[in-house]
Amino acid sequence: MRADASDSDRFDRMRRIGWLDMDRISRSRCMVAGAGALGNEAVKCMVLAGFRNIDVVDMDRVAGSNLSRCVMFRGEDEGRFKSEVLARRATELYPDADVRPINSRVQDLTDWDYDLVLGCLDNFSARMHVNSHAVYRGIPYVDGATDGMTGRIQAVLPGGPCLQCASNGSHARVADLRFSCTGDAHVFVPRTAAEITTTSVIAAIQVREAEKMASGRTDLCSRGITYYNGEVGTMDTVDLDADPDCPNHMGD
Ligand SMILES: [Zn+2]
Repeated sequence: MRADASDSDRFDRMRRIGWLDMDRISRSRCMVAGAGALGNEAVKCMVLAGFRNIDVVDMDRVAGSNLSRCVMFRGEDEGRFKSEVLARRATELYPDADVRPINSRVQDLTDWDYDLVLGCLDNFSARMHVNSHAVYRGIPYVDGATDGMTGRIQAVLPGGPCLQCASNGSHARVADLRFSCTGDAHVFVPRTAAEITTTSVIAAIQVREAEKMASGRTDLCSRGITYYNGEVGTMDTVDLDADPDCPNHMGD
């Protein structure tokens, strides 16, 4: 088979999907909160899919136990800032991308000048922080979470139900427990189960929702909360309405 002009266009096969707007995807200002397992998979998919403008926010450093799930990390990266390693490797994958590391807790960010945000976080309080900023500023937000062989995704659109609408008492009780699969040497953290294929599934769906948001097709975004159970191979989406008592919607 001979090559033609379409074979030299990096995004030719994507352009064949009618609703994808590659120009808007390339211009979208994106933030990925968290540079761990989900962040690695999400940023990998984003740069391969043509996102060029990405801030990666994380304060942690690479540990050996990350290496079973983080495609962008190498053994030699142990001890380096996750955001810096992820940004550098993502740029190798797509040199036209501008992937910028921010070594910070997402709670300490002051600049929220983004078109969309992906939440690849490992704890409830950081999630709620990103959620409330996104809702307040009207920024579309896709949250992802994994726990062993299961995971969940929620796309939060301006005016729609948010993460806090879906939260309940048991979530609140663990608000300050950091559900990390690695942990931090300075605080007690429960080590939760984690496995790469669950991570890949959840991050891939997050990026697919981000493609819709960036393309101006939020009408295609999934509604409610999608639950993935990799152990039995099911995926279900549960409807969700905005909670009139949710503090993020006061004044709507
Ligand atoms: Zn809400």
